[in-house]
Amino acid sequence: MSRRVGVLALQGAFASHRDALDACGVDTILVRHPDDLLGLDGLVIPGGESTTISNLLVSSGLLDPIRAEIDSGLPVFGTCAGMILMASKIVDGRDDQIHFDLLPMSVRRNAYGRQVDSFETDLDVAGFDVPFHAVFIRAPMIVEVDDQVEVLATYGERPVLVRLNNRFASSFHPELTDDIRIHRLFVESLSVPEHVTR
Ligand code: GLN
Repeated sequence: MSRRVGVLALQGAFASHRDALDACGVDTILVRHPDDLLGLDGLVIPGGESTTISNLLVSSGLLDPIRAEIDSGLPVFGTCAGMILMASKIVDGRDDQIHFDLLPMSVRRNAYGRQVDSFETDLDVAGFDVPFHAVFIRAPMIVEVDDQVEVLATYGERPVLVRLNNRFASSFHPELTDDIRIHRLFVESLSVPEHVTR
């Protein structure tokens, strides 16, 4: 049976995530209303502006339903602003900005963006034969991470792609190239026993 993966589509780079997930062979749903969460096997939270996505989560009525799904084990992949929303702590955030506390780590907003607004680099990713071309756009930096979180890629000593079971987060935008290997990792993680028994 094909898996059903939602992409939070309130703001930001959701369309490219849909294309990457389509290429992975899953059914992709753009999530704008609570009903769109029904029957999802996973959720992608895209890049964009984390403070704006926070506001829209409240005004769309999606905040509590997403929290409930996450509490019952919905796997999540967050990129850039989406990673900020997954962190347990945000440095330089707005006091009232929402985060789902899905990964025990601190992230600093716009930490790469202060030097250069945007850059691209090839990253060695654990388990990949060929480097992954990564696009960073006013990217958040992981400044502290708990030992239980697996670091799959680093840039200048800092983790930039991390995983805890079927929760993934990246500082960069893997949806902005044609390389779907990181999306495929997330999709493959959706069948781990922990999720199946959910
Ligand atoms: N700087 C943005 C924020 O704080 C994230 C940038 C991005 O998602 N490309 O939300």
